[in-house]
Amino acid sequence: MRYRVTVPDQEYFDRNIPCRTACPIHTECGRYVQAIGISRDEEAYLLARAPNPFAYTLGRICAHPCEDACRRGKIDEPIAICALKRWATERHNLGTGHDPARKNLPPPAKRGKRIAIVGAGVCGLTCAHDLALLGYSVEVYESAPVPGGMLYLGIPNFRLPREIIMMEVTQILDLGVTLHTRVTLGRDIALSELRTKFDAVLLATGLNKGRELNIPGAHLAGVYNGIDFLINVNLGYEIELGKRVVVVGGGNVAVDVARAAVRLVQESSDWEGGGAESLQPALDAARMALRSGAEQVSLVSLESREQMPAWKGEVHEAEHEGIDVDNGWGPKEIVGSNGAATGLKVRRCVAVFDENGRFNPAFSDEEKVIPCDSVVLAIGQQADLSFLSGEEGIEVTPRGILKIDEDLMTTAPGVFAGGDVAFGPRILVEAVANGHRAARSIHVYLTGKTRKTVLSRFRIFNNWEMPRGFLSTPRQTMPVLPANRRIGIAEVELGFDEAQGRAEGLRCLKCQVNTIFDGSKCILCNGCVDICPEHCLRLVGLAQIQGDERFDLLVAKSPAAASAIVKDEEKCIRCALCAQRCPTAAITMESLEQQEREVFE
Ligand SMILES: Cc1cc2nc3c(=O)[nH]c(=O)nc-3n(C[C@H](O)[C@H](O)[C@H](O)COP(=O)(O)OP(=O)(O)OC[C@H]3O[C@@H](n4cnc5c(N)ncnc54)[C@H](O)[C@@H]3O)c2cc1C
Repeated sequence: MRYRVTVPDQEYFDRNIPCRTACPIHTECGRYVQAIGISRDEEAYLLARAPNPFAYTLGRICAHPCEDACRRGKIDEPIAICALKRWATERHNLGTGHDPARKNLPPPAKRGKRIAIVGAGVCGLTCAHDLALLGYSVEVYESAPVPGGMLYLGIPNFRLPREIIMMEVTQILDLGVTLHTRVTLGRDIALSELRTKFDAVLLATGLNKGRELNIPGAHLAGVYNGIDFLINVNLGYEIELGKRVVVVGGGNVAVDVARAAVRLVQESSDWEGGGAESLQPALDAARMALRSGAEQVSLVSLESREQMPAWKGEVHEAEHEGIDVDNGWGPKEIVGSNGAATGLKVRRCVAVFDENGRFNPAFSDEEKVIPCDSVVLAIGQQADLSFLSGEEGIEVTPRGILKIDEDLMTTAPGVFAGGDVAFGPRILVEAVANGHRAARSIHVYLTGKTRKTVLSRFRIFNNWEMPRGFLSTPRQTMPVLPANRRIGIAEVELGFDEAQGRAEGLRCLKCQVNTIFDGSKCILCNGCVDICPEHCLRLVGLAQIQGDERFDLLVAKSPAAASAIVKDEEKCIRCALCAQRCPTAAITMESLEQQEREVFE
């Protein structure tokens, strides 16, 4: 076996701090988790908030790619990074309007340039936030009566309370951003007009149409589209579902639909967040609508349970709420009488993907009819690009999304696009990343400057001591509302309590801390190898090392002895026993920190 030797450069940093690397906005996840563990709550909040104007929101519903990458997951379970973000943000300014992340910042100098952003979702508003801080005059055009995009229109309030969305949106608007709701591009205002009046335009219109399913009966009364259904319910409209509802789909949207449907029996329409007055017509319409409630909700998914793209935890909660999840069936026909749906005919799906891994479902002859009063089809999303007249020079890809270059500029100069409308269905934290990227690209476009990311030097801290016993602490379980109290908008996840937050914070393996070896001091006594509880250190012959002359920092070497200490970074738990054991102080525990900053010149 030969060992590759690395030095603490960018590649080493990215590989060894996987949570930060996996996060599209490079949140210092590990550092805020650790700050919570040692009760440095403001520091935790500031670290979580720094790259993210939607930190509160994402503390509730982030898809958390950081947790999938977390090194602790290789030992037992990953750190509950998302829940700890909620913990850190909730201990700060919720409801006070005071944001410590902004307290010492002077108002930016005005630049005299105007930017139009279409779509007040996470991408559009993040871009508005950054551009306002850069001194631009920003106006956001939104077709819905409320800002927030899918946060408000798609995600049910039992997963994300509306006051959190409104608090974060208000903080962005308070930077001087102007919001125009109920203005639809292509209907109330033309793209050509925006291009004339503004210096640059960002299209961040998301994917707000559900995909159609072309099967017999799809146009019967009682057949709804999942996205339309959620938008209507979230805006306060009542939908008559009848008592038995079948939801078709295996993704998160389908689960949200099913979980919203079971609550409709008690759904109330007394929303009180910002903008409630502007919702009045919707509420009036809702009062006119027939009130109804679903008593039996089934979710029919093509995929097996293991293959379902929906998050496991959400499926579990859905079942807990009484939703019947029926896997391995594909819709064949919606049967009905007198023009209304009475059942969903399904056929057994034997394979979802073909031998090339492509989505290409295969079916057997087995069929059944699931009796129901309504069918909600939640089988995917698509962009509504009807605002394009065809004369703007904006190209659309074969996937039906906007074609962009690496700076997020569409094929029309000065018109940028980001978020789901430019990348297809993604996750919120990627929409935040796109918003940042779009703002920087617009700034570069308007100033003629170039942008570069500057990485400051690695900061090194000594005197590391790891808390003992942290390996035996299990991942904390999110407390949830009992199923029989989950009515209407009641939030299901309750958040960690004080003790849980601290305990979970202390579980972190502290990947940014590392053992640094001074080869000139090492006497190759093997003491560190003997004491390492994870067996991640080894004494090997120099001949086994693949050449890189700069390996002193990470391995000890002794040309005389022709041997070296090498280390498996993945297994190391940063316990510091090796450093304590070393008789010559050749090993120190040092924290590597990277500060990323963008400069325009
Ligand atoms: C039901 C559902 C649940 C989800 N759950 C999660 C989750 O838990 N975690 C996660 O990370 N991601 C989740 N996602 C994905 C996430 O919501 C999206 O990736 C994200 O919202 C995309 O942000 P965006 O800003 O690109 O678009 P959007 O949030 O869709 O915002 C686009 C905005 O543009 C407006 N608009 C559209 N057309 C026009 C027009 N012509 N004129 C003016 N305004 C217009 C829309 O009204 C909308 O407000 C979920 C998505 C859905 C549908």
